[in-house]
Amino acid sequence: MPNQQPNYLKGLDYAVLQQCMHCGMCLPTCPTYVETGREKNSPRGRIALMRGVADGELSVTKAFADEMYFCLGCLACSTACPAGVDYTRLFEMARAESERAGVLRSPARNVIRGFTLRFLFTRPRVLRWLGRLLWLHQASGFEAFTRKTGLVKLLPKRLRELEPMAPRVRRRFSHQLIQPVERPAGEARHRVGLLTGCVQDLTFSEVNRDTAEVLLANGCEVVTPPVQGCCGSLHGHNGEWESAKELARRLIDLFEPEKLDAIITNAAGCGSHLKHYDRLLADDPVYAGRAKVWSAKLRDISVWLEETGIRPPASPPEKSAVTYHEACHLCHGQGVTRQPRALLRAIPGLELRELPDSTWCCGSAGIYNITQPEMAQKLLDRKMDRIGETGAAVIASGNPGCTIQIQSGLRQRGLPGHRVVHPVSLLAEAYRRETPAT
Ligand code: SF4
Ligand code: SF4
Repeated sequence: MPNQQPNYLKGLDYAVLQQCMHCGMCLPTCPTYVETGREKNSPRGRIALMRGVADGELSVTKAFADEMYFCLGCLACSTACPAGVDYTRLFEMARAESERAGVLRSPARNVIRGFTLRFLFTRPRVLRWLGRLLWLHQASGFEAFTRKTGLVKLLPKRLRELEPMAPRVRRRFSHQLIQPVERPAGEARHRVGLLTGCVQDLTFSEVNRDTAEVLLANGCEVVTPPVQGCCGSLHGHNGEWESAKELARRLIDLFEPEKLDAIITNAAGCGSHLKHYDRLLADDPVYAGRAKVWSAKLRDISVWLEETGIRPPASPPEKSAVTYHEACHLCHGQGVTRQPRALLRAIPGLELRELPDSTWCCGSAGIYNITQPEMAQKLLDRKMDRIGETGAAVIASGNPGCTIQIQSGLRQRGLPGHRVVHPVSLLAEAYRRETPAT
């Protein structure tokens, strides 16, 4: 049967492919190039390959697709590039083209992708149901039992390696912690929607609750639909372009009737994708205009608080040294660097210790730590070394993937007294320490 999907790289505006002038200024910022020293593992090398495919001089081979998936998608190259190369579009289209060509297909890969991307992550209720099972597995002691008795060794090698990295699933998910509509104590200054995410909902639902509390403390009425789908970032970054579009349409349909001033996300990886719904749906006659409105309203929580004026917590100072890891899709993907620091500096007693190479990828990169474990581990080691240099025991991170990755680094290094926490949770903790007015 002929492949009905569009040819993604050839269909790309040629100006986007032509932007690269081969200056090489991106090279020292590219983690894969710095680790390997190979041109093909650099932004410049990858763009040359993409252009070759778009020009019809190269065909999409397994080697091409492997290279596109070896890229972290961290977008450090976009920040460094003086020509304004739109690397987000390039790498997303290159991966979509790799999937269209089917050069990576294998029975196991097809089953895993079909089950996760097309089935699980398009059905929020099924995902929650699976989350419940995982929680039961972890909380019942069965997980500890399988580790203690060595039963875990019966798993296939790759699953065995991944098992210790499994995030802790929460007992209660976002809809059990946040009412569909919550109002602040005084008169609401704004009405905002809160995105609860998919992985975030299962493994960091308390961060969603903290976000709601911080919004309420800053005079916002918070609207949180209890069943929300995945935003599609996982799909967009992994070549499932059509699924990404469908998931975007569903979220727009869900939030649009609420008449919101802003739509708030607290997950950097999602935010970077959500912000581009206008581009994702630009060719959709029904959704193009609505997606533009969506993108204009979408804010990371730190950006929203800075824009509307953060209320400093009136809590007694509590001394703590915190370092801030910058999630790639917040600093490079959205250009947000100042606002999370402003949020942290608003907390009484908090000492912000700058992290050397704070914008260098930690190796999480969506599912990169699963698909490219060796490179991901090298980047995690580097990140953990830098964290160690700060002497801070609290690491603030605005992305669930980074949090899980750095938590794994803390376990590897035997640092149980350290914790990785979302900046908004630190702010929520400070609000909770406020002395009630007498
Ligand atoms: S996205 Fe990151 S890994 Fe990929 S080419 Fe750019 S800098 Fe390198
Ligand atoms: S910095 Fe930009 S223009 Fe220069 S080589 Fe890298 S991608 Fe191309």
